[in-house]
Amino acid sequence: MQLPARFAIRCGRLYDGTGAPPQTNVTVVVAGDRIERIAANDERLDAGHVLEAAAVTPGLINAHVHLEFSGEPDIGVTVLTTPIAKTLLAAANARRSLEAGVTTVRDLGAAQSNAIELRDAIAKGVHAGPRIVPAGRALCMTGGHGHFIGGRETDGPWDARKAVREQLKAGAECIKLIATGGVLTKGAVPGQDQLTQEEMHAAIVEAHTHGMRVAAHAIGTNGIKNALRAGVDSIEHGHLLDDEAIELFRASNAFLVPTIAAVSCIVERASDGEQPDYVVRKATALYAAMRENITRAYRAGVAIAGGSDAGTPYNYHENYAYEVELMNTVLGMTPNEALHAATQTAGRLLAVDAGVIEAGRPADLLLLDGDLEADTRTLRSPQCVIKGGAVARSRNAA
Ligand SMILES: [Zn+2]
Repeated sequence: MQLPARFAIRCGRLYDGTGAPPQTNVTVVVAGDRIERIAANDERLDAGHVLEAAAVTPGLINAHVHLEFSGEPDIGVTVLTTPIAKTLLAAANARRSLEAGVTTVRDLGAAQSNAIELRDAIAKGVHAGPRIVPAGRALCMTGGHGHFIGGRETDGPWDARKAVREQLKAGAECIKLIATGGVLTKGAVPGQDQLTQEEMHAAIVEAHTHGMRVAAHAIGTNGIKNALRAGVDSIEHGHLLDDEAIELFRASNAFLVPTIAAVSCIVERASDGEQPDYVVRKATALYAAMRENITRAYRAGVAIAGGSDAGTPYNYHENYAYEVELMNTVLGMTPNEALHAATQTAGRLLAVDAGVIEAGRPADLLLLDGDLEADTRTLRSPQCVIKGGAVARSRNAA
């Protein structure tokens, strides 16, 4: 479906991404790639083409994805493919993500420059996909979590600075650090420290000098606190956080990206026998503590940004709506609060101009069949996805 340069959407309910109560019976007017204004439904509009939807939300922002992975039960299968095969997979996952309503993603770790080059190809219109904020290669300790998926092995503060500069040179816009062990790397213990506070501090100072935000993969209690004390902008996972970590979050205004779907999808499919035993064992051990701790952080006022770790086992790029559902059911957010985490808050973390519906902002919009507050599952399959004023996918040909 092709839309004219100027068109309008009559919204039964408009969720603008800020978490404010939805506005009823308003019309969003789009001109070019931006939102021109929000008008009352009975106002006379000179926009020729008018769409209608039960509910309208901003395009979703997934603050934690791995475009090279497609949710294979054994991630080692992808690791064995060639660089070209990974590029093709990443391109396919980018398209699937966009068609499901995700208009911006942050790629937190690729083997080479796939996500960076894909960002440029999408920006130039060569390929369909969301806006991508890429980290390049993740920085891990020698032999640490993520080394086997192309992590940049990093030892010592000066090497950490060099590793940041390498990502900057390659075109990365943010940096990913590995503060503790993780679930998907054989032999890595999720609770144990990996990069030191000193190494992370050096990397963060260097990244901030160049205007890049820094995310730290951190599951273990001490590693979470090391990363927060080092000055990181977001903790990814954060599953074993404690009260002292919550205080450090509050003192630093760092974000928590809880990636609830990542552990949940592994545990939900534990019995199908397709995943390596060590993966199922580690995820199962974390599951209950994850739910309890991140809920405590949310209740204590830590800023929660939506991110699913899409690409990990059974955690598909086109299923980001599941993370929104989990923020609703596990953390106790209202559907509107969960949407806010997956739009405006994630946009603030990524420092992108996206995630809010207001005059002058990019026209990234989802048209839904039903009302979000009545059933969050309506986000799973938008009737129409609009990115930058253009239709990315529409179920209705008309
Ligand atoms: Zn990840």
